Parts: sequence; C-alpha cells; structure tokens
Amino acid sequence: MSEKVPAPWSPVELTMNGTYICAKVWGREYVWDNSLLPSSVRTAGREILSAPAALHARFGREEAEFKEIVFLPISAEEDKAVFTVCASAGNIIVNIRWTVEYDGYLEMALSVVPYWSFWGVSPVALDGLWITFPLTCESSGLYHYWPTDRYDGLASGAVPEEGVSTAFKPYFWAGWEFGGLGITTETDEFIELSPGKPCVSLTPEGDGRILRWDLLDRKPRAWSDREDSWGDALGPVDYVFGIQATPVKEQRRDRMEFRIVHESYTCDDRLLMPDENGKTLLDKYKDNGVNWLIFHESWSAMQNYGQAVEEERFQTCVRECHSRGIRVMAYFGYEYPTNAPLWHEKKDDYLLKNPAGHFTGGWQRHNPCQRAYMVCYAGGYAEGMRERVKYAMEHYGLDGIYTDGTYVPWSCANAAHGCGYTAPDGSRRPTFPVFAVRRHVKALYELVHGMGGMIDTHQSSCLLAPTLAFADSFYNGESIQEKLKESFLGFLNLPAFRTEYMGKNLGLFPQMLAYTDSRMPIEKAASLSLIHDVLPRPGVGAEASAAVAPYWKKLCAFGSGDAEWHPYWEKDCPVRPETEHVYCSVYEKDGKLLAAVSSFNEETDTVLLRIPEGAALGEIVPGIASAERDGCILRLNMKAFRPELIELVFS
Ligand SMILES: [Zn+2]
Repeated sequence: MSEKVPAPWSPVELTMNGTYICAKVWGREYVWDNSLLPSSVRTAGREILSAPAALHARFGREEAEFKEIVFLPISAEEDKAVFTVCASAGNIIVNIRWTVEYDGYLEMALSVVPYWSFWGVSPVALDGLWITFPLTCESSGLYHYWPTDRYDGLASGAVPEEGVSTAFKPYFWAGWEFGGLGITTETDEFIELSPGKPCVSLTPEGDGRILRWDLLDRKPRAWSDREDSWGDALGPVDYVFGIQATPVKEQRRDRMEFRIVHESYTCDDRLLMPDENGKTLLDKYKDNGVNWLIFHESWSAMQNYGQAVEEERFQTCVRECHSRGIRVMAYFGYEYPTNAPLWHEKKDDYLLKNPAGHFTGGWQRHNPCQRAYMVCYAGGYAEGMRERVKYAMEHYGLDGIYTDGTYVPWSCANAAHGCGYTAPDGSRRPTFPVFAVRRHVKALYELVHGMGGMIDTHQSSCLLAPTLAFADSFYNGESIQEKLKESFLGFLNLPAFRTEYMGKNLGLFPQMLAYTDSRMPIEKAASLSLIHDVLPRPGVGAEASAAVAPYWKKLCAFGSGDAEWHPYWEKDCPVRPETEHVYCSVYEKDGKLLAAVSSFNEETDTVLLRIPEGAALGEIVPGIASAERDGCILRLNMKAFRPELIELVFS
C-alpha cells in the first residue's frame, strides 16, 4: 500500500492516449473519450451512463458543439492525477482542470472564457450553459439532495414518475441501492437562472433519466455591461464541481465487530460503581457484548476541545474500559466554546457566520458553564481541531473519535475565511464549504488512522459522499426520531431509508440513532433497520444494549458481514413473506440462511413465510415469536415491531 493512499483505497491508475483517458480507482472507472466530461462511468460492476456526460453551450437559439478538444497531462501521483482539457464552442472557449483522487472523487474546475470578443468584433453571445449526466434507468431510481427544506423532512427516496427538480443545492445524488453518482458544488454565485427555474433536475428521458445542472439561461452578468478590451478585459466565469460515483469503498465486512453504546461520561464514577450484585455498568455492558463506548460531549471541559474535566479520572475510566475489552471513542464536534483559551483571538476566524454576520448555534452547557457556537472548517479551526484530536488520543489512550456534524458543510457567509459572497443587490449570501470540509476530514482520517484509531460521525439528512468517504462509520436518524414516534407507519418511507440510512449505496457502515422510550422501544427501531442490515445503536444504560444483544450475538455467530445478502425488495430473495406489511431480508452463508423478519402489521400476529424446499428450522432470535412449519410455509406467531432472526438449515 502506498504511503499517500490510506486503506482501503488503492492508487489512482491513469492511462492517456490522445483524447482518450481512462482513470481507475477502487471499484470505479471513468473514461473521457474525446469528451469534456466522462463518456463512461463504471461503478459497482455496471455502466451507469446511457450516453456521455456533457457540457452544453447555447448561443441564441442554437446549441454549439465543442470542437478543438485537446487533452494535456499535468501530473500523475498515486493519490491523484491531474489533466486539463481545452475546447471551443461558438465564441467561447472552456478550460477544464480535472483532478482524479484515490477515493474516486473528480474535481472539475471549469473556466468559461469569452474568445475573440475584443472591440466588439464578435460580441459574446453565450446565453445558456448546462451540464447533463444521462443515467440508465436501473441506476437512477433513487435520489438524495442536501440540505432538506425542513430539519425533519426527507430529501431522499424513490424518484417519482415526473422526476425530481429543485433550486440550487450543493449536493445531489442519483442512484440505486448499491451505487450511484453524486455531484457537488459550493456556491450558486455564478449560477444565473430565471426566477423559478430549477437548477438541478433528474427527469425521465428515453429509457433512462437525465441528471442536469443548469448554470446559465442568459448572458452572464460579468459579460453584460461592457465591451471586452485589452485595458478592461472580460474574465472567465469559473465553476468548481465535485463528481463522485459511489460506492466510495467496500462496506466494511467486520461491521458486527462494532457493538457500540453511546454513553454520557460526566466525570463521575457512575460507570464504575458496583450494584448490589457487585456489577458495575461497565461490567453489564461487557456482558451484553458491548465492545465500544462513545462518550458524549460532557467528557470535555470545553465543548469540542478534547480536554477532560478531570484528566486522571478520565484516564482511569478509559483504562477500566480497556481492561474489559471495551474500546473508547470520545466526542468532538461542530462547535467552539466561549471558555476555550483562545476564544478572543480565534472566534472571528473559527466560527461560522450567517449572512447578517452573526454566529449560529450557541449550545449552552454547564460543568463548567459555557456556550458553544458553530464552527466553519474553512477557517483555522480545522487545523485546531486536528491538534486537539491528536492530544486527546495520545493523552487519554482513546481508540477513536466520534465527530458530531463535522462532515457536514454547513452554510456560511464568513468572509474572514473566504465563505459567502456579495450578490449584485448588495446582500450577503452564504456558500457551502464542501471542499474545505472534505480537505479537513481527509486530513483527520489520515491522522486518526495513522494513530490506529477510527472515526464515527453523526449527521442528519446529509449523505455527502465526498466527505463521508473519510468516516469509518456513520450515525444517522436523529432528524426522523420524532416523526417515527408520532406515526411510525405514517412516516415510513422504505426507499428513503434504503437511500439515506442503509449505507450500501455509498459503501459506508451506518448505525441508526434511536432515542428510545415507551413510544419507540429500541426493538421498534430495529424492526425498521434490521431488514436493511443495519442495527440501532443503544444509548445510556444497560437496558437498550441488553435488547440489542441477541441480534448482535446471532449476526456475529452467523458471519453476516461477509454473507451473501438478499434484500426484501429483490425478487430472488429465498424467503418471501405471504402476509401483508411483513418484510424479510436474508443472509446466506455456508449453506445456511438467516432471515431478518419484521412485521409492520398491527392487525395480526400470524405471519406466513414461504421458505425454500428442504429447509429445516433452526434457531429463532430473540425468540419471542414461535414457529410452526407446514411444508414450504412457516407460520409464525409474531408481534408487529418485534423483529426476529430466523435460521434455516439444509441437511
Ligand atoms: Zn465559513
């Protein structure tokens, strides 16, 4: 493995022959064949483009073809390769710098340049510019974009018949359950469209769908109010896009080795106090199979600063975890607190500012009392956070870090570190620092992995492949908790769950956030997640992990991580429910099947499953359901929202 390319990726392989370029990275292949944008994108073993992706330029009513295409190699390192493309159309030229990174991320830095327009000889006439990615139908049935319009809303799911279109969004992904294509950009500063015209759309066309970004539907403002001359030249209009086919890596096969509980360390000895039977909470976690604890924010005296309230006490706690075979991650996040030592000097650089110039967030906590405001990783805070992470991992013996919101490019208008822009009407507009967040989390991944650690990250409704590629696992679902509690079945949207919470489309390892209570015990969360090969992550106290423990144990024993998986939506799934509102996905390994079965049917406790001929009933876990076999029909007495793992063996 190369020093420049961290596991699990491999070096970029670039071959170039005239105007043909092929870039291979882990799991994906991009080809440019005399084209400005890729003419072929292969991922997850299939071609996802139905025709070459293209840049389109319109002059008056006519779309002009790009000619004079010339490719130039610039550099080819193991971690990235760079080449440029030059071309002309009408009286513009375009210069594109393409960078291919090892995680399959392509940066397209595009300059659209007026050409031979001096002294009005050939006045600029460009009045339309857009990009298209024609996708095959089977590779574009699901979509996701960020941000959502409401915190608890969904911006994911099955693409409706008429397609999906939206105003500017910094990220849009189209794909299917096991792959897809995401496009990102930070700003709409140079996107000029008529009011109401969508910027991003995914619409049916022919046998497939076109993913389209509209950039201009008029002559750009920058070229409109004067003539081009030597002493007062018209400059290019520049755009930067990130393009990334997914999955970005193989979904980790050892995911059942992360039996994580989300804990709240408050600098007391709650975890280490024996009960009447002499068992501490740590002992109980161990008995339940827990092998990772995440300590939430209160472990640090300063929010997100990585310094324990009482250092020796915290070190002891980490040692006690280790002595029980439990590894520890601790909270870092998206905030900078007023009690940080350099608050006065750093706040204006570190913090995110809204267009009015105000801070955002402002979380309040005690022990010790402080407020913490949201940071922007385009500022100096990115480096500051990495220094604090290094300190905490070295000083306390942490095995990794939990990062709250760190992989999300929150909108920011803080000019001090280059965010935001001033619109022609004088108003300040925010931008989304996707590229800065990506640089930060890439460096964070290299740092933490270099120290033998791992990174878990929490985000809500932001499934951004260019940043999440650099997390080992992600913790998702906070934004839908209340909706699920209010009306589980009313809110249930399985295609959205498959897009945003399953992780297989991006190659990521998810766990489901579950604030459990009487309206939503953790088994109910498991009934939604387990059929997607995902488990809810238990929270504080031994009860929730005790409820999840049987699933952990069975899935580990079966070897679900490297089993073949047959999801409920595929026709060849070997176990099929014959009762409405029942779902079943099946692991297959070593001639055995393990069916994850969830009933969302509150009308009946009788669930019928059609099982393969010759299958004998094995263990049922947790075994609240009872089963009777009648030929190829398995009759279960099974409660809604209490999922079971049912083993089938063949003699
Ligand atoms: Zn910023």
